[in-house]
Amino acid sequence: MRLPKFDYLSPTSLTEALEIMGGYKNRRLKLLGGGTDLLVDLRDKVILDVHNPHNQEHRCHIKPVQSAFNEPPEYLLSLSRIADLRGIRSEGNKIIIGAMTTITDLERSDIVKKKLSGLHDGAWQLGSPLVRNRGTYGGNLCNARPAADTAIPTMALGGKLVLISKRGERTVEHDDFVLGPGNTIIMPDEILKEIIFDLPDVQYGSAYIKLANRKALEISVVGAAASVIIKDGIVISARITLGAVAPKPLLVPEAGQLLLDRELTDDNIEKAAKTASKKAKPITDHRGGATYRTSMVEVLTKRALMICRARALNAERMEASS
Ligand SMILES: Cc1cc2nc3c(=O)[nH]c(=O)nc-3n(C[C@H](O)[C@H](O)[C@H](O)COP(=O)(O)OP(=O)(O)OC[C@H]3O[C@@H](n4cnc5c(N)ncnc54)[C@H](O)[C@@H]3O)c2cc1C
Repeated sequence: MRLPKFDYLSPTSLTEALEIMGGYKNRRLKLLGGGTDLLVDLRDKVILDVHNPHNQEHRCHIKPVQSAFNEPPEYLLSLSRIADLRGIRSEGNKIIIGAMTTITDLERSDIVKKKLSGLHDGAWQLGSPLVRNRGTYGGNLCNARPAADTAIPTMALGGKLVLISKRGERTVEHDDFVLGPGNTIIMPDEILKEIIFDLPDVQYGSAYIKLANRKALEISVVGAAASVIIKDGIVISARITLGAVAPKPLLVPEAGQLLLDRELTDDNIEKAAKTASKKAKPITDHRGGATYRTSMVEVLTKRALMICRARALNAERMEASS
């Protein structure tokens, strides 16, 4: 593939990476995770032509993150040799996942499979084995696509993102992270360091369902994720999020609200799913029509909630697929 020329920087520690970013702050520098989005964007000159309407339409909502410049980057700073950015660990009631953890790592992790089932559903449905081996969790979140397969369940699970710079660390909710297609609140001197999930000490379940035109290597037509926390048979928290139906991953608080302080009955699930479909604002494109997408939101939300219920109450895994 023909790429524009750039210098490749490959620090081995976070401190070194942040030092370099400080020193190059007036230069066109981009962070490189696995490169499965960025290198394709560079090859397709999406970065060069971010203001070209043809590219915007062609890539369907996709605009690269940190695109403050409209020329290709002079430097790519690879995060791949920074060991501190990779790994999945439990600390008390928290699960902490490094931004450079690959999608395959998520897919193979027992912790993710058992405790963050919705995220596991997103990981195994992303791309193909090759893409999952290279692509990282942080890259999928920072690329900020409205259909990103790990972003939709991360938001449903109330994931928090730790951003680090030489100025220090700040923790933000995923709810507030994405501003629009390819656009996040990350500042040019910041790196996404890790993603944190707080686990409830009562029954809970999460699920993500992706509807795509093919079984693999396909961006979703619609994605729906849900997470519920149940205490003594009553829902005390419910979050429903949707992918590919708005310019960014969409949280639908009104749908979650309907489930609160009640049992998670079929009837209540039905009502929440209907509300979710009313809040979706999909477009029509080559992947699917707006009307079709809206009706599929209802179907997928309902199924996701039923899987959440089964996972929460039976502590059994049910496979989530469309
Ligand atoms: C053939 C193919 C199929 C695909 N299928 C899917 C799919 O089904 N579902 C899906 O969701 N995606 C899919 N993708 C997109 C892509 O693989 C994922 O988004 C992947 O997780 C991106 O991770 P990466 O490490 O490769 O990101 P990169 O390409 O390295 O980076 C993406 C963006 O994030 C920034 N970035 C990366 N890491 C950090 C960090 N730690 N801190 C701050 N900024 C950072 C980069 O600067 C860049 O702007 C597909 C891609 C390809 C090529």
